[in-house]
Amino acid sequence: MGQRCLYEGKAKQVFETEEPDVLRIVYKDEATAFNGEKKEVLEGKGRLNNEISSRLFQLLQEKGIQSHFVRRLSDTEQLVRRVDIVPLEVVVRNTAAGSIVRRTGLARGTVLQPPVIEFYYKQDDLGDPLLNEAHIAQLQLAWPWELRSMEDMARAVNSALLDVFADAGLDLVDFKLEFGRTPDGELMLADEVSPDTCRLWDQETGESLDKDVFRFGDGGLQDVYEQILQRLGGTPDGENV
Ligand code: UDP
Repeated sequence: MGQRCLYEGKAKQVFETEEPDVLRIVYKDEATAFNGEKKEVLEGKGRLNNEISSRLFQLLQEKGIQSHFVRRLSDTEQLVRRVDIVPLEVVVRNTAAGSIVRRTGLARGTVLQPPVIEFYYKQDDLGDPLLNEAHIAQLQLAWPWELRSMEDMARAVNSALLDVFADAGLDLVDFKLEFGRTPDGELMLADEVSPDTCRLWDQETGESLDKDVFRFGDGGLQDVYEQILQRLGGTPDGENV
């Protein structure tokens, strides 16, 4: 297409399009974990995350939660609104797993009520540290009202996704969101929502059906992601919408 690549991350590339306020995202097959220490190319992962993320953004939009998502363009591509990404990862936790277990000693599986919301600094060379509001203010990463707004949106996304995944027989343990600022300063949900960025446990078996399969397992990630897509009512392998 000959369009300029604005950014290349671990899982996605971002390209300009002919429209100045629209970008094209390409989902890659690469999987990374532990801050890039574990890295592999998993064929088909890009397509699966693109399909799942598109479907989830659509379901969120149907429930009144706007995002940068415009439409799915192809197997591995999405069109999105151009936003300036706020350099914070907003994590919502319904159940203790992962870093909160290591940090606090809470038992894995503890129900967190109300859900815990955390902010992490998107800064690979610092290892994406957990920040409090004073840190965020000092670093001038977001205004206090923007933090409130991100928390409110994160709670709304959580309520909506808890229902979506419960209908698919899955417990939404935790997930990570990113937000962007539109040119007129409005905050909007951005990045992706996929099994790369959520922990999902099967309600019957307790099995992990998410990136923990890659973090701690020895394969089978594509089968697991395909299962998530199917449970969300997605299209079968290779079939185009
Ligand atoms: N997460 C993510 N990107 C990151 C860090 C975390 O998508 O860079 C997601 C992760 O998949 C999980 C949630 O955020 O669903 C909470 O992750 P946690 O802080 O427990 O870190 P982990 O133990 O996964 O490194």
